[in-house]
Amino acid sequence: MNVGPSFLRTREGAEAISTAAPTIDLREEREMALQTEAKKLAEEALASSWTPGVFPVDPIAIAADLGVNVYSAFIGEDVSGMLRQEPGGVPEIFLDAYEPPVRRRFSCAHELGHFIRHASGDQAIAFVDYRGPKAKNGTDPEEVFANAFAANLLMPPKVRGRPLGLEARERL
Ligand SMILES: [Zn+2]
Repeated sequence: MNVGPSFLRTREGAEAISTAAPTIDLREEREMALQTEAKKLAEEALASSWTPGVFPVDPIAIAADLGVNVYSAFIGEDVSGMLRQEPGGVPEIFLDAYEPPVRRRFSCAHELGHFIRHASGDQAIAFVDYRGPKAKNGTDPEEVFANAFAANLLMPPKVRGRPLGLEARERL
């Protein structure tokens, strides 16, 4: 949407515009774009680093394949995961050692989402994900993207909605 300088007029002018212009909500459109991009990048990561049919999807193995070191770490009781990379350095994900494995899997996939969105190699990256009252708002674009990436990574679309046990039995 191109809002040129002609819109930046006097207070009276601005009021005239705000009553004349229809109000539209771009938030849903923006969120859809983030979801679509996250799904695409998760599918690319799966295509290059995952053997179809092998469950559960292992985000730590996928991270390793992408050159990201993953650690189980003591990072504070209100932190579920962290991602950091110095310019040109090795990216690192830290997962709360006290979290149960299923939560750590999701946290790893989530941090990997932050990495994939920002991985250019020449910029420092730093994310800290809190849980509880300090957790970031779920409408933060970074978090919407990382959560959507994690969901798509851990549950590839072709098997979504089907019990994983059935998959296992079909392979026997
Ligand atoms: Zn996050």
